[in-house]
Amino acid sequence: MKQFSLLEKQESLDVLNYQIRVCERCSLSVTRKHALTGEGNIEARIMFVALSPGVKEDSQNRMFIGPSGQVFDKLLYAAGIDRELVFMTNLVKCVLPKNRKPSVDEIESCSHFLDKEILIIHPEVIVPLGYYATLTILTKYHADPLAAEMNFAKVNGKLLFLNGEKIFPLPHPAALLYNPSFEPDTIEKYKELKTFM
Ligand code: SF4
Repeated sequence: MKQFSLLEKQESLDVLNYQIRVCERCSLSVTRKHALTGEGNIEARIMFVALSPGVKEDSQNRMFIGPSGQVFDKLLYAAGIDRELVFMTNLVKCVLPKNRKPSVDEIESCSHFLDKEILIIHPEVIVPLGYYATLTILTKYHADPLAAEMNFAKVNGKLLFLNGEKIFPLPHPAALLYNPSFEPDTIEKYKELKTFM
């Protein structure tokens, strides 16, 4: 995989981010306020991939500032990970109305942006958050997608070496809003993640 200099990274991201902001490849462009670009440290060793912006993120054009973001910040803090040192992005760049599931077409329309972000940022570890991001990333790196589809729990918190990439699937922070009992275990996994920094 090509490694970009800092200047090349910034220039490539600027071009990509413009393409994301004006994208109308799928019908989510009609209902969004903003198509969210990735955010964070472009030299990050850890790249988090969430599903899509929430309502607050869509309205304010920022990553992880709504209820899920509060959980995300709490997990980072508990593990001693500085949010300024990671890169965060979404699988689907536009908000999903009423928090519905993404369609296969929407993921296929949008995920080429994620591919380019991974190429540019070139993180040490890719951290897909939740089922859809994990399924897409495992499929991209030629794992058995059926296994992920059938059981996210089998890959949750496991460091996978696939096609030269390190992938560490974790639950989406939104899952902890509904299941706070997952929190202690998830904090331990974030502490493992910190060792890659
Ligand atoms: S979800 Fe992705 S593909 Fe669809 S309009 Fe937004 S940026 Fe474009």
